Amino acid sequence: MEHTRRHFLVSTAAIIGSITTLDFSARAASGSGDMFKTAAANIAVHPINHASFVMKTRVGTIYVDPVGDLARYAQLPRPDLILITHHHGDHFKPDTLSGLMGDKTKLITNPVVFDKLSSDMKNSASQIANGGDTTFGDLKINAIPAYNTTSGREKFHPKGRDNGYVLNLDGFSTYISGDTEDIAEMRALQNIDLAFVCMNLPFTMDINAAASAVNEFKPRFVYPYHYRGRDGGTQDPQKFAALVGKPADVRLGRWYG
Ligand code: ZN
Ligand code: ZN
Repeated sequence: MEHTRRHFLVSTAAIIGSITTLDFSARAASGSGDMFKTAAANIAVHPINHASFVMKTRVGTIYVDPVGDLARYAQLPRPDLILITHHHGDHFKPDTLSGLMGDKTKLITNPVVFDKLSSDMKNSASQIANGGDTTFGDLKINAIPAYNTTSGREKFHPKGRDNGYVLNLDGFSTYISGDTEDIAEMRALQNIDLAFVCMNLPFTMDINAAASAVNEFKPRFVYPYHYRGRDGGTQDPQKFAALVGKPADVRLGRWYG
């Protein structure tokens, strides 16, 4: 009896494990994304890779820092809006952009990226700097600073150059950190529903700094993203989740592999 019971428990654990895996791939294949409820309509989030993701909203499909092979985006609608945080290769790839952009796609970038765009792309683009704001239909977009503060790392993301973004649609606020450490401007954010927070060394910050900031500005949901660093080193999103705990609901997207 005891043996049978133990066997049953082990098998159940194995079955639950495989159901979780199946469920995850089914969801990815169906293209529905992770759903977040807003006052007017849901927002669906599709993690793509590292810093790249796609949000489907009622004002259109928004691509954030899309880089890499176009096949990664083949199952998704074309972008209506593309946001670029800064010019580093894991955030900005002109070839990927020209493959993704349609006639009506609008591009919003920081000033350094704007200067690097072809004249064709400039026609579809506008630039905002830290502290600036703009709109896309009913979507409000604020550019938030993103920079390094640790001595010796300022060269990666000097203050004032690169953007994070806060998007507000129907009262639902989304924060996209870009590449930054746990700066005061992040800690001071209020009423964020959904946050994408970077963590990798030496370019941004470790899980302790990221979790400390998240526990201060208290988003309702948070995705750790951009967590692999140089030489394959990684910040552990599970450990980050443990440090954050409740009330923030940590979402572990499939950002790699
Ligand atoms: Zn960067
Ligand atoms: Zn980066």
